[in-house]
Amino acid sequence: MLIALLPGDGIGPEVIAEAVRVLDKVVGDKLSYETGAVGGAAYKSAGHPLPPETLDLAKRARAILFGAVGDPDCDRLERHLRPEQAILGLRKELTLFANLRPATLFKELADASALRPEVAQAIDMVIVRELNGDVYFGEKGMRKTASGRREGYDVMSYNEDEVARIARVGFETARARRGKLCSVDKANVLETSQLWRDVVIELAADYPDIELSHMYVDNAAMQLVRNPGQFDVIVTGNLFGDILSDQASMCAGSIGMLPSASLDSNQKGLYEPIHGSAPDIAGQGKANPLATILSAGMMLRYSLGMGAEADRIDMAVAKALENGARTPDLGGKLTTTQMGDAVLAAL
Ligand code: ATP
Ligand code: MG
Repeated sequence: MLIALLPGDGIGPEVIAEAVRVLDKVVGDKLSYETGAVGGAAYKSAGHPLPPETLDLAKRARAILFGAVGDPDCDRLERHLRPEQAILGLRKELTLFANLRPATLFKELADASALRPEVAQAIDMVIVRELNGDVYFGEKGMRKTASGRREGYDVMSYNEDEVARIARVGFETARARRGKLCSVDKANVLETSQLWRDVVIELAADYPDIELSHMYVDNAAMQLVRNPGQFDVIVTGNLFGDILSDQASMCAGSIGMLPSASLDSNQKGLYEPIHGSAPDIAGQGKANPLATILSAGMMLRYSLGMGAEADRIDMAVAKALENGARTPDLGGKLTTTQMGDAVLAAL
């Protein structure tokens, strides 16, 4: 099975290298790899952040393991040439509409969480965020009011098919976990949210085994801090998911710990750490590779049907932490490669 490796900028290549070493150990030659240029690196080598050859590779591959894009040298380029456009282009071209972000705290990192340890340790959830619709993609513009004042507007819209396909991912994800789905909306105020809730309820007929609940987004923000252990899977729209998933990430101890997946409707996916290219530490061996290693695990689980192998990766990461392996972001001294070594040793 072909895997596209898109390391990108900054620490991207460093963390991808560790993830590939772990994959080699866990699944050996069942996977083959091709590397593509993306982001600022691709702009510099090929004149575009998402060159046609890279897009073609991404389309051919069963899954994509992505590092990070973002390069201070490219800050002044026209918007369509900036590194960040590469990831937006891939999401759009490959119709990656479902963003899965697990939020868990490894118990060894309890001190590093923004929440009280006993609260943080109970967290074991996945946030399923819709990625291709909502207020980010609706009509937007700037106009003048009748009295000549400036007015900006962004239209929030979802159609029922868009809601149904993400809701299905939510139900399926819950089915593969503890069977609880919480749909987050603002149905007391927004038409889009009323449709969202109606469609989720209609779909629930196909999932009698799933315990479904609904929550307003403001309450969800509060509950994530007050009692996050109540959540198994949260499904929500693009805007609410953007905010809630960043909020949930604060339980994990470091941005260097959090993986993510972006899926289409055929289990093809792009897997990446949620952190960026971290230009401030690039090339110094300081990056924590665990978010990318865990992303590789998600790739095995969600795109390649290798759940047992994915479990092995998760357990090896936990074991490495238990053995005291820490990069600087976790208060330790290990280099990126030494953290990779620690995971390999745990395997
Ligand atoms: P983006 O816009 O791509 O999200 P950003 O500049 O907002 O990027 P990051 O690149 O994620 O944010 O970096 C934010 C901070 O977190 C930086 O100080 C960076 O060094 C640190 N950081 C990010 N990823 C890691 C990692 N894997 N290991 C250690 N530190 C990290
Ligand atoms: Mg940023």
